[in-house]
Amino acid sequence: LGRRRSKVPIGPGTLADDTPIPLMANLTAAAEAPRARELGAEGVGLLRTELLFLDAETAPSIAEQVEHYRGIFEEFPGRRVIVRTLDAGADKPLAFLPARSDEPNPALGARGLRAFREDNTILRNQLRALAIAADATSAEVRVMAPMVADAAETAGFVLLARELGLRTAGVMAEVPSAALLAAQILGIADFISIGTNDLTQYTLAADRQLGALADYQDPWHPAVLRLIRMIGDAGGQSGKPVGVCGEAAADPLLAVVLVGLGVTSLSMTPEALADVRTELRQHTLEHARLLATRALAASTPAEARQVMLDG
Ligand code: PEP
Ligand code: MG
Repeated sequence: LGRRRSKVPIGPGTLADDTPIPLMANLTAAAEAPRARELGAEGVGLLRTELLFLDAETAPSIAEQVEHYRGIFEEFPGRRVIVRTLDAGADKPLAFLPARSDEPNPALGARGLRAFREDNTILRNQLRALAIAADATSAEVRVMAPMVADAAETAGFVLLARELGLRTAGVMAEVPSAALLAAQILGIADFISIGTNDLTQYTLAADRQLGALADYQDPWHPAVLRLIRMIGDAGGQSGKPVGVCGEAAADPLLAVVLVGLGVTSLSMTPEALADVRTELRQHTLEHARLLATRALAASTPAEARQVMLDG
């Protein structure tokens, strides 16, 4: 199967054998929604919510949050919108969270879900606001937590989300422990979404913000692919969805490998949707699986990429 670059009309993500692979948008604000829809996003696979909180001196009230989220949900009537709860930490400090500037290693600090271990008021209020906003629109709203390490943390988050009125709750797999424990996690969560940016950073132990180590930040690395395979296998066994919402999903050739590893939907910057849609339509699921198996056997990111270039 070649990779002819024919112009593919806007439409749902599918493989050459018609297997659906929903293609979703990563968003941060309602203003980005029209462009995402224009480019054919089938929903939102990652709504980052930090923006609403970053400039605030005090935590936004539940009412303020409801208004904000509702504005975004209304842009996607009847569509799936996956909201990530606040991913704050020393890298994205919030004025109203206790200062974390004393953390020697922010990437390994109290970020993501870990920021709420002592006091989860902000998380509770956010989930409540999301539940109210979800009930007020026809969007199919799901929530997921960042930086989840294991099944116990998954259970804590999923139960809290349900208690506060959200029907569908999942977690991000962006810490290697979550990939290793994906089967246990999917025994509890409704879905998993792989954050390849952080998963790569933590697998290779290279700070993603450090330019000198930028070449380690490569999701084609066979070690990262092997962790993704574990998550994909757990998804296949549980029958639950496995998404990717990191930058890897926006690389058309890597997108094929991800599908071959068991990923069932992809979320990306809307500008990347067309190229990924085009590439996926060149491959059957069987072919994607074959390519993924070959990429897994590579010993360097370049070798893994070469598998796709060779077709
Ligand atoms: C990721 O880590 O891949 C991800 C999607 O989250 P962020 O880039 O916001 O950390
Ligand atoms: Mg992340």
